Amino acid sequence: MKRVAIVGGGWAGLAAAVKASQLGHQVTLFEMAQQLGGRARSLAPTDAGPRLDNGQHILIGAYRQCLSLLETVGVDPDRAFLRQALRLRYPRHEGLRLPPGPPLLSFVRGILSYRAWPLTARLSLLRTATAWLLRRFECAPKLSVAELSAGLPAIVRKELIAPLCVAALNTPAEQASAAVFLRVLRDALFSGRGSADLLLPKLPLSALLAEPAAAWLSARGVDIRLNTRVQDLGPCPGGWRVEDQSFDQVILACPSTQAATLCAELAPEWATLAGALRFEPIITVYLRSPGTRLPAAMVALQESAEAPAQFAFDLGQLGHAPGLFAFVISGAAAWVAHGLAASGESVLRQAVAEFDWQSPPQIMRVLAEKRATFACTPGLQRPPARIAPGLWAAGDYVDGPYPATLEGAVRSGFCAAEQL
Ligand SMILES: Cc1cc2nc3c(=O)[nH]c(=O)nc-3n(C[C@H](O)[C@H](O)[C@H](O)COP(=O)(O)OP(=O)(O)OC[C@H]3O[C@@H](n4cnc5c(N)ncnc54)[C@H](O)[C@@H]3O)c2cc1C
Repeated sequence: MKRVAIVGGGWAGLAAAVKASQLGHQVTLFEMAQQLGGRARSLAPTDAGPRLDNGQHILIGAYRQCLSLLETVGVDPDRAFLRQALRLRYPRHEGLRLPPGPPLLSFVRGILSYRAWPLTARLSLLRTATAWLLRRFECAPKLSVAELSAGLPAIVRKELIAPLCVAALNTPAEQASAAVFLRVLRDALFSGRGSADLLLPKLPLSALLAEPAAAWLSARGVDIRLNTRVQDLGPCPGGWRVEDQSFDQVILACPSTQAATLCAELAPEWATLAGALRFEPIITVYLRSPGTRLPAAMVALQESAEAPAQFAFDLGQLGHAPGLFAFVISGAAAWVAHGLAASGESVLRQAVAEFDWQSPPQIMRVLAEKRATFACTPGLQRPPARIAPGLWAAGDYVDGPYPATLEGAVRSGFCAAEQL
């Protein structure tokens, strides 16, 4: 049994704490906020309305480590998510939709039967996907998604590649890493039945993981210290000192910027890599319109210079308050520069133009997470999990196959705990 400190209680830190506890270690979890969950959390409830999340999250069936973590802490994925085969529904018409079945077959059938695209476009996508498959979904590290898909017809790039890329990597196709994009596609299409399914949370994010995980960890004697920002980390005989307490090993599960600051003198090379990562923001605009229902729980939108959101979610259809909607702007750097008020108004105009509303929609809240994810660019060098002997990093940014996602965070948390 080792005394283990985990710094940061987001999804990576919680995954690390659960795994380390399962492995029999004595765990102390430090979290600077007053709640666990990090970038995937619910906001504090207010008297003014329903509990909101810091931003809409979606998972896919291939996120197996996330699902396993949820099951471990007692969350039943069948009850926690609305699960549906991959479907791009637009406000006024049905888009591409994959029928249920083995992923590869369902992809081929879905594409061939999508008559909104000319046959030449459908065949071109199938030819290109076959070429990716034959190359095992691998490509040169320096390639961007726009370069990778340059040979595809414009309609396929606009209606499939661009929205998938920004949804999965939160980085526009021109700047996004093709190697990481292909890896996500590979896992979605080839990691078994249901791997491409969309999983839309029916619970507030904190009820999805943070709260059940906290209960699970507390019941196993894990010492959870909220409101505790770690600012002092250093070696001590036989291990590491965190603030004024000594531990055998430490997992830094805070974001890359904080980890780089804590390690600046302890591991300067690692800290330089971590500190060099750049970020992409996400804006979520919550609208309210009693009586309105969107044509599906998740609706894809055509983004343009005036219409910023790429997806709209009808939270009423997901078991939250009816008449509540989340509009998401991923890769939102330009809109953050315009300002939150202007972004909210643009989304409102887009929403009014795209949907039929039973009552005039009103802006409830505009939230920006300026460092939502690292910018997943071609050839990006990400810091490894090992910082120094007995000092590990966990987080969505740590070197691995995935972009900044819940699955990347959970995988890295499990992996760090297994190294202890
Ligand atoms: C708006 C938004 C939408 C997103 N949508 C999706 C999506 O649809 N699907 C998806 O898979 N991913 C999505 N993501 C990304 C996903 O949320 C992140 O990849 C994931 O939450 C990162 O988890 P983490 O544990 O690595 O980091 P974090 O969640 O950032 O956790 C780090 C924790 O460390 C704490 N901390 C920092 N410094 C210290 C310190 N010195 N001492 C103690 N504690 C400290 C922080 O308070 C925080 O709780 C989205 C992110 C955002 C912001």
